[in-house]
Amino acid sequence: MKLTCWGAAGTVTGSMHLLETESGRRILVDCGLYYEKKNKDITENNRHFPFNPRGIDAVILTHAHIDHSGNLPNLVNQGFDGKIYCTPPTKDLTGYLLEDSVNIQMAAMDKTTVRKKSHKKIKKNISESLLYSYKHIKQTVEQMEMLDYNQTLSIFDDIEILFVNAGHILGAASVLIKVREENETKTIGFTGDLGNNHSKLMIDPIPLPQPDYLVTEATYGGRFHMTGKDVRDVLLEEIQNTCVNQSGKLIIPAFSVGRTQAIIFTLHQLFVEGRLPNIKIYTDSPLAIKTTRMYETYVDLLNEEAKAFHKKYGELFEFDRLYTLLNPEHSESISLDPEPCVIISAAGMVEGGRIQQHVRTNISNANSTILIAGYCAEGTFGHLLLQGLSHVVINKKERPVLAKVRQTDGFSAHPDHKGLLDYIQKSSGENTEKVIIVHSDPESAAALKDALNPQLHAEVAERGKVYELN
Ligand SMILES: [Zn+2]
Repeated sequence: MKLTCWGAAGTVTGSMHLLETESGRRILVDCGLYYEKKNKDITENNRHFPFNPRGIDAVILTHAHIDHSGNLPNLVNQGFDGKIYCTPPTKDLTGYLLEDSVNIQMAAMDKTTVRKKSHKKIKKNISESLLYSYKHIKQTVEQMEMLDYNQTLSIFDDIEILFVNAGHILGAASVLIKVREENETKTIGFTGDLGNNHSKLMIDPIPLPQPDYLVTEATYGGRFHMTGKDVRDVLLEEIQNTCVNQSGKLIIPAFSVGRTQAIIFTLHQLFVEGRLPNIKIYTDSPLAIKTTRMYETYVDLLNEEAKAFHKKYGELFEFDRLYTLLNPEHSESISLDPEPCVIISAAGMVEGGRIQQHVRTNISNANSTILIAGYCAEGTFGHLLLQGLSHVVINKKERPVLAKVRQTDGFSAHPDHKGLLDYIQKSSGENTEKVIIVHSDPESAAALKDALNPQLHAEVAERGKVYELN
């Protein structure tokens, strides 16, 4: 068989890997949006595929995040009519995330081009420029075929697939693909995005059953999470210092899927333990509201701590003092209100979404804190904030950074360098001929490669290079 990595090669977005078998089957693993800051035109970067979408026989989707699923409706729009295999929660979440991706595309469009047109032409311009419409999203979801974890499914005469829980977000899977070629059967495993061990809500990632070839993520290659402190204590300390001692606002940028639920669950734990100060908590992301319901629906797939909590209290996320901001006007009024509070809002890297309003309002308030709760890619506003600058430019206006900018990686949804090495060691055996490293910046990929056993013949994926796996 042959493998070509068409995305997430030297980058962390745009995951898309093409597997071609000797029998001529063409399987695509993930079909995500590429959205690095340096190339801001999302639509043009993703519009054309380096292969014929009509020639793809099936897609395997590892999880719902938009950098893995976000270009599927475009693939469907361009003629792909096969099945998209994923877990049941991934099917549910992907529908929501794809609708949200239309909003992301609109926000990222070249506003100057749009501004030059008359008002009537603006709407036409936007709809013509989008990668896809709601019609294509609906069609994409209809093509999804669900497969539970740990069940083997024969998708073609010569190809079987198996999902194991990757522990990254709800529904995330690593996939083992078994391909029969002449008299020989070969296996290739794709980790998808892996979760961090001992994370909130999610189970630890399940190793793949030692495939012949392993395609692994390396987001945190060469980097280590800070350890030692319970995330409950981290949040409590920030709330105490900012909201109680200084009557300020604690602003937490968080992704709507995964991170937001982990933070709310942690605050709920503090609440039932009687440790949460009498401060209002606001969650401000329309997508997070839908996603949170989904986590409650699939509580059986969460870790033992979450299941036990749910059994005891009947709810994972709902508690007094937690308020949901439904519309932008309400969001703005809370942002401007001087009352101390905690606001959890998307997006996590402070690129787009309602979080921008909260950061803008509070960045020059010395009593407030912006708590970055995860990875911020270089070039994003979150990354810029972490540089410790005295001033930043928002909406063409220079503003002094007086709020404290803090960071915690306690909620990280990816394993660090050590976690990756442990996982790869468990997921590889004597038969493992090659490890291909994807989903990371070049430095992280190189650090992981250097640390792996030479017998694994690790290689950092190059975009478009064809790997002959025989
Ligand atoms: Zn992900």
